[in-house]
Amino acid sequence: MSSFDEFDAFEASSLSARAMAARPTPYLDQLNPQQRAAVEQLDGPVLMLAGAGTGKTKALTARIVHLLTTGRARPNEILSVTFTNKAAREMKTRVAGMLGQAVEGMPWLGTFHSICVKLLRRHAELVGLKSNFTILDTDDQLRLLKQLIQAAGIDEKRWPPRMLSGIIDDWKNRAITWDKVPSGDAGAYNHRGPEMYKQYQERLRELNAVDFGDLLLHMVTIFRLHPDVLEQYQRWFRFILVDEYQDTNTAQYMWLRLLAQKHRNICCVGDDDQSIYGWRGAEVGNILRFEKDFEGAAVVRLEQNYRSTPHILAAASNVIRGNTTRLGKELWTEAQEGEKVRLIGHWDGEEEARWIGEEIESMQGGTRGMRPYSLDDMAILVRASHQMRAFEDRFLTIGLPYRVIGGPRFYERMEIRDAMAYFRIVTSPDDDLAFERIVNTPKRGLGDKAQQTIQRIARAQGVSLLDGAALAIEQGEIKGKGAKALGQLVVDIARWGRMTRATVPVASDDVLDDETMPMPGRPEVTHVELAQIILDESGYTEMWQNDKTPEAPGRLENLKELVKALESFENLQGFLEHVALVMDNDSDDGGAKVSIMTLHAAKGLEFPVVFLPGWEDGLFPSQRSMDESGIQGLEEERRLAYVGITRAEEVCTISFAGNRRVFGQWQSQMPSRFIDELPEDHVEVLTPPGLYGGGMGGAPMSSTLETRAAEANVYNSPGWRRLQDRQGTRPVSQPRESRTTTIDLTAVSAYTVGDRVFHQKFGYGEVMSIEGDKLEIEFDKSGTKKVVARFIVSADDVPF
Ligand code: ATP
Ligand code: MG
Repeated sequence: MSSFDEFDAFEASSLSARAMAARPTPYLDQLNPQQRAAVEQLDGPVLMLAGAGTGKTKALTARIVHLLTTGRARPNEILSVTFTNKAAREMKTRVAGMLGQAVEGMPWLGTFHSICVKLLRRHAELVGLKSNFTILDTDDQLRLLKQLIQAAGIDEKRWPPRMLSGIIDDWKNRAITWDKVPSGDAGAYNHRGPEMYKQYQERLRELNAVDFGDLLLHMVTIFRLHPDVLEQYQRWFRFILVDEYQDTNTAQYMWLRLLAQKHRNICCVGDDDQSIYGWRGAEVGNILRFEKDFEGAAVVRLEQNYRSTPHILAAASNVIRGNTTRLGKELWTEAQEGEKVRLIGHWDGEEEARWIGEEIESMQGGTRGMRPYSLDDMAILVRASHQMRAFEDRFLTIGLPYRVIGGPRFYERMEIRDAMAYFRIVTSPDDDLAFERIVNTPKRGLGDKAQQTIQRIARAQGVSLLDGAALAIEQGEIKGKGAKALGQLVVDIARWGRMTRATVPVASDDVLDDETMPMPGRPEVTHVELAQIILDESGYTEMWQNDKTPEAPGRLENLKELVKALESFENLQGFLEHVALVMDNDSDDGGAKVSIMTLHAAKGLEFPVVFLPGWEDGLFPSQRSMDESGIQGLEEERRLAYVGITRAEEVCTISFAGNRRVFGQWQSQMPSRFIDELPEDHVEVLTPPGLYGGGMGGAPMSSTLETRAAEANVYNSPGWRRLQDRQGTRPVSQPRESRTTTIDLTAVSAYTVGDRVFHQKFGYGEVMSIEGDKLEIEFDKSGTKKVVARFIVSADDVPF
């Protein structure tokens, strides 16, 4: 890593004039005059506050290119912050594309977290940490808090760890350290919040660990308490660029302000209508107050949208108009008219997934008069990650390639977490949480008692659990089989640790010649080989090989996948850092795939074809968000709807289901209120399968239960009826006026064999046998199934 002095010696400005004249700037020709102004104004603060798809990110990227091309800055003098790792990668690719060559360096282009982790490793000692600190994920954080809560004698049922973690995260987002908790917050967590925050930070320090919030907060603390360090970085980062500025929280805001104070060359871009992280402490006020913070800021407004068709744009604009707290911006486009926004209702969530799967397949060949689309062009954006499962299941069944971005992730699986705990304890022996996780996995005869002994000794001596374990054996506090196994583990961890420090880089085939081959007698291994060695020698691989459960083969596959993933990293620590930060499972085999992700993860992205499923009240807008934050919560949900629709370039399909299984229970759903806010002129209502004579290969009209139930359930909602009226395509048999959306599933009488019954999902059937509360039913349409009596009603009680 270069020293500061090297940067000081670099006189960028003297180069600029010469470089400007010498280098072509074709990227400027791709911009409109407003964008161009924002790019060329390199000195002083610049704010681009503009709606979705107006080319903010494009202009920001062009600005980086301009800085480099004109010689105003070298790659490592530019600090550019994006919101996700995916966005950072994309920006690097775009910069390279515009420059016409690979970007060398750009070490400071990344997310707040990834940049702060690099900085904090250099200065860890200033906040009492060592530079090899571990980054805890949510799971570890909760486990740690739980221990502290138990030790403090707090009733964790009434005051759950999740509540405390929420409070602490909130403080950290607001840049409040444990010693500065405002008196107004003293009552938090039953008045124990501030004290628990302190204990938590102390424990993290002992563990040589940080959580996500600490990455930012520690850096802010360092900058505040060590002006010399701050000044170095102020000089170093001569140009600062921030995308999605509307979603910065207070800690991030302070971090940026501190860094930008000297040169004031800060360019922020964002859109108040796309602020969707209020629940995580984002302050939309940060962007609105930019002009006050940076006096004399050039403010650039962009209004032409280059992404979406007029119908899509009109739909999005109409929805967001429902929000009261916004600046209000009008967007226009020159794009061709194209498809209207499509709206479709389904019987249930699985039907919705089935339909979308079929639609995606037919869109590849071109359907309904549209051009053909590749799978890479298509994305499904969900409100809640649990919605993904239905799509994953369906797509696996029909063999439709897909990738999940964000959401329930590979690295959260049990076997992966175990394996990573092994890697963690090897790279940082103070990592007690990792030690706890693996000490008796696989079983080493070390039960609760032995583990408590280790804890006690470690506490008493003020050492890590690993050292505590060594002492426990030495002092004879743990005996017998357990002691032998534990002794072996302690020795192994130390040995693997030495091997880690001696690993050699992975050699690619073309450099693997005689010279790079390991010398005989010098057992050099790569970190990839070492990872395999750790998993094998620890007995972890064997544990799953001996496991007879159906999941075991899959887990072994995942472990293989994990070891494979290590190949693209320099060492184990780099990999662990990546996992802690990235967590988006978008490994690629290069083939085209449909993307599935949450609306939150889709921010800043664009796709020709977008599906927006699950537009049902309670799911979207989310009930929780409305319950917790009232009208503000609803407005944030509406911004999320705006983000969703504006991701689409050409085709946007919104759907909802009349029934959905939520936590194992079937629930009747109402279409989202946002559907009512879609402008009718720009929406086309599609015919769901099964209605009006079959549509997409569904059953004949009105002859199936599904059709009638769909009419009674889905199409009886006020929102839906209004839409049908507008379109003049009301279902043939008119729904009842009274809302019979719910079948009372609790009104169950005793059944006898031969009864005709109805199940909300499987339809009509006949009871074949009864076993306690489980019935075996032969369904007319779905074959024989075992179901719980609670989910059945007598056929006579069905209200249609
Ligand atoms: P969001 O608010 O969703 O983050 P954005 O304002 O960052 O959107 P970009 O992603 O930069 O918008 O641009 C949207 C699309 O418009 C991209 O495909 C981009 O290449 C294109 N685009 C931007 N500016 C222009 C331009 N001047 N001429 C042609 N296309 C443009
Ligand atoms: Mg953008």
